[in-house]
Amino acid sequence: MTTVELQLTGDETSAVTAPAVKVLDLEYRYPDGRHALRGVDLTIMPGETIALVGPNGAGKSTLLWHLNGLLPGKERTPAVHSHGGEGHVARNDAPAVWIEGLEVNAKNAPEIRRRVGLVFQDPDDQLFSTTVIEDVAFGPLNLGMRPSQARALALECLGRVDLQDVADRAPHHLSFGERKRVCLAGVLACQPSVLVLDEPTSNLDPRGRRRFIQLIRSLPATKLIATHDLEMVLDLCNRALLLDGGRIVANGLVHNVLGDPNLLEAHGLEMPLSLKVGRG
Ligand code: ADP
Repeated sequence: MTTVELQLTGDETSAVTAPAVKVLDLEYRYPDGRHALRGVDLTIMPGETIALVGPNGAGKSTLLWHLNGLLPGKERTPAVHSHGGEGHVARNDAPAVWIEGLEVNAKNAPEIRRRVGLVFQDPDDQLFSTTVIEDVAFGPLNLGMRPSQARALALECLGRVDLQDVADRAPHHLSFGERKRVCLAGVLACQPSVLVLDEPTSNLDPRGRRRFIQLIRSLPATKLIATHDLEMVLDLCNRALLLDGGRIVANGLVHNVLGDPNLLEAHGLEMPLSLKVGRG
């Protein structure tokens, strides 16, 4: 496994395993000129479960899509950036995202997509086959697995999300919550080491939400979860990143970020009820 020198505090350094995710000074503009990410820096170590919170339009989904190379090459504007030392000028072709030390670029795209599983906010953006089993087996088949093996793995992953019974049904005949679980099964079938979830609990009923949270908790991958569900963040995550206007404005322990009412209010969020109650 790759090792890198990671800056800890002050002059203290230590040899540690490569970050599961590293993002350095990521800039992104959509083709229409919308500046969605402005110099995002972020490091996630293997095994962490990190929340990405922020108001609508903050850039959360845009950031997630970069992690498995779903968005075209970033645009980097030459500028002075603090992390590079005084006078550092970003190069237009400088890499910005690494997964387990591997740079996210067009050449590495197949390997990056094997390592990073992205569950979209809307299952209908993810499901496209005529049956559930075909959808879940698609990833492993695409990675070169034999059809019989891919089918067996797909069934096993459907079992993990409690949906073995719907294998031969059409995805569009399932409930929203079931479709979300099919998406998760499809991602699990690719055995990713980094799981990226975009609003995993949105539009789920309370029972569906609880089941999904339990399922996410049981998965051993490194996780980055973009969400407005701050109670889930308290439940699952050790650290929270607050993104607004394409910039990370806070990065800290969940209780510190979600427990700061002024910070939350300034960025369109509200302290979760259980923290309010806990504080009397
Ligand atoms: P979030 O996930 O935090 O709600 P997004 O990443 O979806 O934020 O959006 C960040 C910004 O990029 C917003 O200003 C949004 O309007 C803009 N945006 C998102 N998708 C596109 C697109 N396809 N074309 C142009 N602008 C977009």
